[in-house]
Amino acid sequence: MIDSITDSSANTFLGCPGQYFYEYTRRLDPKKLREYFIWGTLVHIWARLRVKELEPQALMTEMQRDIAKLERPLAEQECMYDMLGGIPPTADGHLLRWGRDDLAYESMMTETEFKYQIGDFTFRGKIDGVLRNLDTGELLLYELKTSSMTGPSLYRTLPLDSQLRGYLFAVQRCFGMDVRRVIYDVIKTPQIKRGPVENRADYYRRMGLLRLTERAKYYERTPVTFTQDAIDSHEFWLASIIANMRRAEASGYWLRWHPVNHWPCPFEEICMHGGDDIEWAMNEFIVRPENALHPELS
Ligand code: SF4
Repeated sequence: MIDSITDSSANTFLGCPGQYFYEYTRRLDPKKLREYFIWGTLVHIWARLRVKELEPQALMTEMQRDIAKLERPLAEQECMYDMLGGIPPTADGHLLRWGRDDLAYESMMTETEFKYQIGDFTFRGKIDGVLRNLDTGELLLYELKTSSMTGPSLYRTLPLDSQLRGYLFAVQRCFGMDVRRVIYDVIKTPQIKRGPVENRADYYRRMGLLRLTERAKYYERTPVTFTQDAIDSHEFWLASIIANMRRAEASGYWLRWHPVNHWPCPFEEICMHGGDDIEWAMNEFIVRPENALHPELS
């Protein structure tokens, strides 16, 4: 029985219940590596460790240790080791771009998991951080993103972002902090192709050096303000999705629709073959263990 929900799983269900079924009920992960997802995980490991202010070599050693502890497939862990060389220039670039601004804050929490009960469901997630402005005392949620797509049209709509609302909701309810603003911090992925004879490690190092040398282009930060009504409405939003999940689970009918402009869905081939018989496709996927229901939390 499904008993937990994250922002990511809620949005997957909203996008297409069929995709939710394959991804969270059958726990299927494509064998083909999703490097954007793996790089994002690696950057968050760095973000958690950077508060320790380790020397570069000690940082690399701790990151390697943390990668080894992840409950992720070996191929993903090996991919992370390859990407590690991209971390030092990316971290240096971030420090040079934002180090002076960061002096205005102290860290109240970093990479912290939360759980909030809604009926018989647990709303789960991981907060990148909460900062306190040293001058004003204001508390701010800190969200770190890795992305290639940013810009004014994204930032304009961030007050509608369900993840940010949900995390503010969780910080207020779970940790009793009065937080209504977010610092949205993006480390951008350069749109450069890997060379034909370039290995993955060199490619990620090259991207890191590009970020370091073109900092104004690859590091963006924006504050986002939310009303208390928008934050409070998150519980209703989750409850309505949970009700629909329960209905789908009870009936065994996971409606499949293919939203226009949908990101490439890893289960497209399955759907093109009718959607119900998936055994033939199993050599394309691995099945996550039951305790890894939400890969975004590992
Ligand atoms: S391919 Fe389309 S219809 Fe099928 S699961 Fe994915 S999003 Fe849904």
